[in-house]
Amino acid sequence: MLTKRIHRILLEKEARNYPMTRRILARLPRVPVEVIEDRRVLEAPDHERAGWLPEAKRTLLLAVQKGPFRRPCPGTKDYLCCGYQVLQVALNCPMDCSYCVLQGYVNVPAITVFVNLEDLLAELDAGWAANPGSGMRLGTGEFGDSLALDSLMGLNRRLIPWFKGRRSAALEIKSKRTEIDDLLPLGPNPQVVFAWSLNPEEVIRAEENYAAPLAARLQAAAAAAAAGFRVAFHFDPLIYFPGWEEAYRRTVASLGEAVPSGAIAWISLGGLRLLPAMRPLIHRRFPGSRVASQEMVRAPDGKLRYFKSLRVEMYGRLREWLGEAAPEARLYLCMESPRIWREVFGLTPAAGELARWLDRQVFLPV
Ligand code: SF4
Repeated sequence: MLTKRIHRILLEKEARNYPMTRRILARLPRVPVEVIEDRRVLEAPDHERAGWLPEAKRTLLLAVQKGPFRRPCPGTKDYLCCGYQVLQVALNCPMDCSYCVLQGYVNVPAITVFVNLEDLLAELDAGWAANPGSGMRLGTGEFGDSLALDSLMGLNRRLIPWFKGRRSAALEIKSKRTEIDDLLPLGPNPQVVFAWSLNPEEVIRAEENYAAPLAARLQAAAAAAAAGFRVAFHFDPLIYFPGWEEAYRRTVASLGEAVPSGAIAWISLGGLRLLPAMRPLIHRRFPGSRVASQEMVRAPDGKLRYFKSLRVEMYGRLREWLGEAAPEARLYLCMESPRIWREVFGLTPAAGELARWLDRQVFLPV
């Protein structure tokens, strides 16, 4: 159990009297708790990240979300955005993927969990009442993992029913873990999409520390589909290594064998992206990792990416294999330029069109 990794809890004073706080403390009775005045006092020095990040993965910070929970996904100019909205319910994650972009973003040495779930539900109610039927495609897996701490938080048990019957709303629960047994009885609910990031087993073992094996993710996806949920997959980040073609081809074939194509709402492809400052950080934290050693170029958004020719080749091969293994799934590129879209798919979606395609995969006709 991943929650066994947690060995320290920091409790923001204001967060003490929320039901989620009581639930988490009751489930971790032996973990020492330290009450703090305000989480801003915890901000840690940027240049010492490699030193405090391991501790940040084992410390929970229970805090109150004071801003809105719902935010647009931080898309980037020059790249096509899928129009997803983030529910910021937590920040950081107890797993430790070598390539994780959060290593460069978190500034507090802890996994922040926002405990004011009642405010989140009230915000969803208000948003829906203000614009009924206008379309809400939301996800909780952008700044952390949607299942990793769910046995502590009990969040998905409350969120999933909110989406039931709301025909133009959808929730994506995105993860590299498989703890969904308690959630399956909440189906059928086609407005909820259980999504898994996929990579070949050799990449999972080498780069995705504490994540579930590929076979377990696919088994969980099959169970979610059988329980009446939609499922989705993200080949993101696609990682280049000698032998990548055979490894990804096998992974796609396993996906096709495990999950009925008609249950798949979408599959995204995204090549590895790194903030330049992450490269030395990855070398220090994960000396055996292959992700930071491949040649990359700085893209217009300032991130390092593989050369275009390699990205196009990888996307093209994945597209070909997925077309056979999951013919009914909608494929899209995550944060890619119009030019790459054209080279891979022969077309570029117009502004807002990608978002509408994905909406149509999950929203039901009224
Ligand atoms: S599972 Fe996601 S959020 Fe967690 S460490 Fe890996 S990439 Fe980061």
